[in-house]
Amino acid sequence: MNDLSKNYINGQWVTWQGETIDVHEAGTGDVIARVPASGREEMEQAITAADAAFEAWSESTLDERLKVLEQLHSGLKERAADIADAVCREVGMPIKLATGIQAGLPATVTKTYLKMLPDFPFTETSGNSEVQYAPVGVVGCITPWNYPLHQVILKIVPAIAAGCTVVLKPSEIAPQSAYILADILDGTDLPKGVFNLVCGEGQTVGDTLIKHPAVRMVSFTGSTRTGHLISHAAADDFKRVALEMGGKSASVILPDADLGAAVKGTVNNCLLNSGQTCTALTRMLVPADKHDEACELAAAAVAKMTPGNPLEETTRLGPLASAQQRDKVIDYIRLGIDEGATLVAGGPEAPEGCDKGYFVKATVFGNVKPDSRIAQEEIFGPVLCVIPYTDEAEAIRIANGTQYGLSGAVWSADDAKAKKVAGKLRTGQVTVNGGAFNPLAPFGGFGHSGLGREFGKWGLEEFLEVRSLQL
Ligand code: NAD
Repeated sequence: MNDLSKNYINGQWVTWQGETIDVHEAGTGDVIARVPASGREEMEQAITAADAAFEAWSESTLDERLKVLEQLHSGLKERAADIADAVCREVGMPIKLATGIQAGLPATVTKTYLKMLPDFPFTETSGNSEVQYAPVGVVGCITPWNYPLHQVILKIVPAIAAGCTVVLKPSEIAPQSAYILADILDGTDLPKGVFNLVCGEGQTVGDTLIKHPAVRMVSFTGSTRTGHLISHAAADDFKRVALEMGGKSASVILPDADLGAAVKGTVNNCLLNSGQTCTALTRMLVPADKHDEACELAAAAVAKMTPGNPLEETTRLGPLASAQQRDKVIDYIRLGIDEGATLVAGGPEAPEGCDKGYFVKATVFGNVKPDSRIAQEEIFGPVLCVIPYTDEAEAIRIANGTQYGLSGAVWSADDAKAKKVAGKLRTGQVTVNGGAFNPLAPFGGFGHSGLGREFGKWGLEEFLEVRSLQL
């Protein structure tokens, strides 16, 4: 049992004596850690500390910021095994993938900012004006459980690099990697108060953070439902918001595409982290005359993904993060059957041999109607909807026919054609013929998927105000 009954406020670990929140292991359901269900008072103390630290940190030199980020980068590399183990247990991502993604990506992203920062133009000239990019102020960061450290790093690294101070409220479902991060930062030269961590429920500490007048920006990743609440609260005193929210991304397989490669690529993407990925390609759009073949290929790909213990090196599909998430996904699978979709693989029953933990069978539905609930709502589990279309225009209409717009994919034998269709998708990212993930590409959503962008210079600009001096 990992006792984490503490918060990190003003450069110190502050012991918490009150109620705690249990953290469960996804593969067994066992309680593996306890974190504070902190009160509003602790959050206010953290905001006060961040506010007091802001002026000095906003005037810190480039060298001071680079030194801290370099120390953070080394710490993330040193603690990679601890991070992967913690996230594997909490979220259920298989250890091999968790090592590469959940532990590897935070270090990679930190490195991109270390490389970019020295050349970033914090001042530029426009006519007779000097344009200055100034840190926005105290930033409240609120993050989800599915990529728990990655989402935190995408906020705190550019925020600190911009000269902002930060209060982090991590997910109470997968909080351990945030504690490892605080531990690493505690060993760096970061001045006290620049980074603060308060753990607790969204409705209490999260609510205090989004409403406090000293907080000038809220950077949030999570559900569209919570994003709504944050937007409303921020409107009251014109806080800046950056929102990364849900998705229902379409993989558009054009008639001339290599069907085998496109289906494999889509299934692998959809099932990554058991479907607990905001960018998951959960709708596979196929020409109507290739629908049955695509379903067979998808079923064959899914058959190789037997759920298993995420701590085993060979496991490719782990459990879901919580009992609540498992039950929600099973309800959606039952709904798909009730809505008349064809169950091609999987189903609502627990997978064989998985009597403990939060396992769900990888499931494929065929002949899914584009306006049905399983095709419109984010399921956040290993469920793929295969949707037939008659022509390209209809495929684009279906792809754009949800409230979301986070990611997508297009597959075609003709790259130019694939790019043309990609350019018609109302979404923040599109993978063309399986293009590789790029940590320097802007990432974010259209519509109900988000506001603002993360990664690279776009991620840094979110934390900067613009001031112009007329000379
Ligand atoms: P969630 O919205 O329930 O919780 C996210 C965070 O918000 C948690 O820290 C939670 O405690 C906090 N919160 C909840 N209620 C709050 C309130 N009233 N005030 C302030 N804070 C509050 O989301 P989740 O279930 O943790 O994460 C899953 C969701 O995150 C999915 O919808 C997924 O698509 C989305 N997501 C999006 C991205 C992206 O980059 N677009 C990335 C990962 C996850």
